[in-house]
Amino acid sequence: MTMQRESAWPMVSVADAQTLITAISATPLTSEQIAPHQAAGRIIATTITATTAMPSEPRSTVDGYAVRSSDGTMPRQVIAELTAGNNLAVTLGAGQAVRIMTGAPLPRGADAAIMVERTREVDDVLTFSGEIRAGECVLPTGHDMQVGDVVMPVGAEVSPGDVGLLTSMGLRHVAVYRRPVVAVLSTGDEVYEYDEAIPYGGVRDANRHALLAAVAAAGCEGISLGIARDDAALQRTKILEGLARADVLITSGGVSMGTRDYIKPLLAELGTVQFGRIAFKPGKPTMCATVGSRIMFGLPGNPVSSLVSFEVFVRPALRRLQGDPQPHRPLVQVTLTSTINPSPDRPEYQRAIVAWHNGQLVATTTGAQGSSRLLSLRAANALLVIAPGAEPLVAGSHVAALLTGAVR
Ligand code: AMP
Ligand code: MG
Repeated sequence: MTMQRESAWPMVSVADAQTLITAISATPLTSEQIAPHQAAGRIIATTITATTAMPSEPRSTVDGYAVRSSDGTMPRQVIAELTAGNNLAVTLGAGQAVRIMTGAPLPRGADAAIMVERTREVDDVLTFSGEIRAGECVLPTGHDMQVGDVVMPVGAEVSPGDVGLLTSMGLRHVAVYRRPVVAVLSTGDEVYEYDEAIPYGGVRDANRHALLAAVAAAGCEGISLGIARDDAALQRTKILEGLARADVLITSGGVSMGTRDYIKPLLAELGTVQFGRIAFKPGKPTMCATVGSRIMFGLPGNPVSSLVSFEVFVRPALRRLQGDPQPHRPLVQVTLTSTINPSPDRPEYQRAIVAWHNGQLVATTTGAQGSSRLLSLRAANALLVIAPGAEPLVAGSHVAALLTGAVR
C-alpha cells in the first residue's frame, strides 16, 4: 500500500461551506401537535393568534373597592364582597360599592376600583381620600390580548414565559416543528467506551458522548450508533443504519489522510459530497454529504476539532431543520485580555471566556488551543473568530466572537 500525499478533496472556504450547508438544510422538517406545557424549547410551526380577549372581562388590579366614578367623592354603601374566583352576580347602583380583591371581575355598573390604602370603612360605609377617575385600577377587557392578535409567529422558540402564555390561552395543542433525529457514530480501532478498560494506545470515546450532548442542547433527539472499528464494511453498515434511523448522521474520526480513514470514500459512495475539506481551524478535514433528504457530516477525530466543527457547521443546520430562522450563535465584538497568535493560513475559531467588564465584553483565552486538548473548551462560552495572519493580536485588540454560552 502506498500512502496518499495530497487530499483528493478541494478545500472550500468557511463561507462557501456555510452556504452549501444552508442550502441543504433550508427546509424545516414536518411539524407535529404537542401540548403547550411540553413545548418549551420547541419552534412554532403555525402562527398562534388570540381567539379570546385577555382578560375576558374587566378586572380589578387592586385589593379595595369597586365603585362608580360618576358618584364622585361621596361616601358609598358597601353591599357585597368579591374575591378572585367567587362568582357573585352583583350590580352596583348609585352610591354603592363592593369590596373587591385583585383579579376579581368588576361587578356590573362599576367602572373603577379604589385601593384599600386610600379608604376607610365603618359600618359598611366607605369613605376615601382624593378623586376617582373612570377606569382607575381596572384592567379592561382585552388589555393584555385582543382577539386576532399575533401571539407567536412561525419560527418563534417557546420560552418558559411562552409556556405560561400558551397555557393561559387554554390551547390544548400547538404546532411545532419536529425535532431532528441525529445519529452519532465514533470510529477508530483505538477508541473504546469510556467505562471499559483501555489497552496501551487506546483512547476513551469522548466525541460521541460530547456530540450527543451538543445534539441534545441544539434541540435534537440523539441516537448513539456506538463505536465502529476502522473497517470499511463495518463502517458502511453503521452509516446505512444511521441513514435509516435518523435525519442527520454525524461521524467522528476517519476523515484524514491515514491508511485506514474510510469515512470520506464511504460517504462519497453512498451520497453526494457537498464539500470534502474546509479552510478552517480546528477541523480542516470536516466533510458534508447528502443522501436524498438525509445530511451526513464527517467530523475529525480530534475532540476539539469535532466539537468546534459541530458548533460552526452542524449546529446551524440542526437549528434550521427545526425551523429556527436565526440558527447562528450571536456574533459580538470582544476585547482581548492577552495576546493571541493567529494561524498563518486558516481562519481559526479559538476558545475563550467572555465576560462583561467595565462596560465592555472582554475575552480571556482558555489556554493552549491544541485540537486534542478538551480543556481548551472547559468553561469556554465563546469562539473567537481569528482571521489568518502573521502578526500576533495584542491585548486590547478587538475581535469578533460567537457566543456559545451565557456571558459571565
Ligand atoms: P482521526 O480523525 O480518526 O485520525 O483521529 C484523530 C485523533 O483523534 C486521534 O488521535 C484519535 O485517537 C482521536 N480520536 C478519534 N476518535 C476519538 C473519539 N471518539 N474520542 C476521543 N478521541 C478520538
Ligand atoms: Mg481514526
